[in-house]
Amino acid sequence: MDSTYKTLLDTCNSHNVTLVAVSKTKPVSLIQEFYEMGHRDFGENKVQELTTKAEKLPTDIRWHQIGHLQRNKVKYIAPFVHLIHAVDSLKLLKEVNKQAKKNDRVIDCLLQMHIAEEDSKFGFSSEELDEMFDSDVYPQLENVRIKGLMGMATFTDNKDQVRREFKQLKSLFEQLKSGRYSGKDHFDTLSMGMSGDYQIALEEGSTMIRVGSLLFGERNY
Ligand SMILES: *Cc1c(COP(=O)(O)O)cnc(C)c1O
Repeated sequence: MDSTYKTLLDTCNSHNVTLVAVSKTKPVSLIQEFYEMGHRDFGENKVQELTTKAEKLPTDIRWHQIGHLQRNKVKYIAPFVHLIHAVDSLKLLKEVNKQAKKNDRVIDCLLQMHIAEEDSKFGFSSEELDEMFDSDVYPQLENVRIKGLMGMATFTDNKDQVRREFKQLKSLFEQLKSGRYSGKDHFDTLSMGMSGDYQIALEEGSTMIRVGSLLFGERNY
C-alpha cells in the first residue's frame, strides 16, 4: 500500500496534479495512516459518512465531496467541505450557495459534465450548462466559486473510448477557461481519472484524480 501511494504521488507531483484519496467505505484508522504520511486530500461520496469521519479526524484534512449530492444534505457539509466535485444542476448550486452564505463562506465547486455513454451517470450536457450560465440567478450566486469541471468516463475496457471522453471534457474545460472564465485564475481544476483510467486522464490533461481502490484495496459494500 505504501509503495503504491508513493509511486502514485510521485506521478501526480510530476504532472502537477492533485491526488484525492477516495476513502469511502474505509475506516478512519486507514485515513489516519495516510494523514500521518502527509496526505491531506480525501474524498467521500456519502454525506453521512463524510461528516462522521470528519468529526473524528484532524481538521486540516481537505474533504472532497465527490459523488452525487442531494440538495437536502448540503447543509451538513457546508461548514467545512473543501471542494464539491459533482454539482450537476442549478438547483443544487443554488442550495450550495444558500448554505455557504449561512456559514459565511464561499464554497468551491466543480461542475460535473456528462461525458459517458451510460445513461446512469449524472452531469450537465453542454446545452444544460449554457442554459445555466444564461439564467438570471447564476450571476447572483456569490457564495459559490466555480473552480472547474469534473467528469467520469464510461466504465469500459475500451481505452480509445475513455480517451475520447476525457479529450472532450478537456476541450470544454479549455474553452471555458479562455472564454467565460478568462482572467479568472481560480478556474484551474479538471477532476478526471480514477483507479482504472487515471493514466489516460493524466495524458489528457487532468489536474486532479480521484483514486480509491488502487490505494486502499477493493471495497466490500
Ligand atoms: C468511488 C469513486 C471514485 C474512486 O473510484 P476507484 O475506482 O476506487 O478509484 C472516484 N470518483 C467517484 C465519483 C467515486 O464515486
